Amino acid sequence: MFDSHCHLTNARFDTDRALALERMAAAGITGCLTIGTGLTDAAAARDLALAYPGMVWASAGLDPFSAFESGDSFPEHLVGLRQLLTNGGFVALGECGIEHHHDVDPAPVQRERFAAQISLAIELDLPLIVHARSGPRGGDAHAVALDIVRAHPGVRGVIHSFDGDTVQARAWLTAGFLVAVNGMITFKGNDALRAAVAQVPADHLLIETDAPYLAPVPQRGKRCEPAFAALTAAFVAELRGERPDDVMAWANRNARALFRLG
Ligand SMILES: [Zn+2]
Repeated sequence: MFDSHCHLTNARFDTDRALALERMAAAGITGCLTIGTGLTDAAAARDLALAYPGMVWASAGLDPFSAFESGDSFPEHLVGLRQLLTNGGFVALGECGIEHHHDVDPAPVQRERFAAQISLAIELDLPLIVHARSGPRGGDAHAVALDIVRAHPGVRGVIHSFDGDTVQARAWLTAGFLVAVNGMITFKGNDALRAAVAQVPADHLLIETDAPYLAPVPQRGKRCEPAFAALTAAFVAELRGERPDDVMAWANRNARALFRLG
């Protein structure tokens, strides 16, 4: 089993990061990808991966929040991102994408900054981790993100924290992307998401936590940690009529293939 998306550099792990990784291993999860959002966090993610070889891997991206914070110096941040990624220690570019829930950069700026990072992922031959959150500030973030992805042939990657329906899932699959499922699938009211995930072929799904966020039921509301990916895997197994061991096996295989972990 592999947790394909967590934020282990988050301050909420400062008191028990090593223990959280022990609990992860005890839950049958042999690896995780910790996501660096912004340059400082990305360097910290890389250092954490270096401290836990074969257990923690790192990605780096300018997500909509750190891109917004960079303001007019986004071009310099993009140069910094390229430098980090080419210096090594990262297996993916992201997360980056489109945020319509929180108030960050205006839509055209977000699109441009997302497109620039897709081009960089293609140039560096790295898988892309996409963030697409719909909301009152722009509507369907999946449609916007997909338009930009489709304009960049050759990009490969994953739509992380997928929260869409069957039509949106199919659109990502058609674009050649994998779909990553987290604790949201266990939340009340997410029937459309459950129907979508029931339909995705097993070789195109990943399991993630997005820890410290989005802890699955019955841990909902608590700080999430990578060990909880096992709860989401069990839920997905029940939903799809598969054995939990099989879900954990394909989640591991798919993540290691996408991020080329060997
Ligand atoms: Zn995330």
